[in-house]
Formats: sequence, C-alpha cells, structure tokens
Amino acid sequence: MFFLFGMRTKTKALNQIQYPCSKCSRQTVFTAMESKRWFTLFFIPVIPLGGSHLIRCNLCGLTMKCSPELTEQITAKSMAAGA
Ligand SMILES: [Zn+2]
Repeated sequence: MFFLFGMRTKTKALNQIQYPCSKCSRQTVFTAMESKRWFTLFFIPVIPLGGSHLIRCNLCGLTMKCSPELTEQITAKSMAAGA
C-alpha cells in the first residue's frame, strides 16, 4: 500500500485595510489574507492544521503576521461585508 501525502497552504484574500507600513514609512493599503495549512492525501486537503492571518503591503509587498487585535478587526470586517 502506498500513500501520497503532504502539506498545502491555502491563502485567501479577505479585504483591504489601511495600515502603517514600516518599509514604506507611511500609511498604505494592505491586503488582509487568511493562510490555512492543510494535511493532504493524494493531493486532496483532508485535515486542517490551523491557520494564521497575514497582511501584505500593496506597495512594497512586505508581508507581516497580524496581531490578535488586527485579526479580530479583519475578521469582523469581512463578516460585516459578507452579510
Ligand atoms: Zn510597504
């Protein structure tokens, strides 16, 4: 018996937020993303391994991990937009 398994990271763009960029040293627009890791079996994602939220600067591409407060803000915003 042979199993083909691996890991896959799925990234989904959630929304756009205003945030100060440390690289551009000014207020820019960031894309908020949700990154989820999956355990895959035969290239099919079967088990979610947890996720994290990231933001990426639209100008320079700097990617940062969201603070818990910012994650809350992003998810609240995307839920409001989806309603
Ligand atoms: Zn930037």
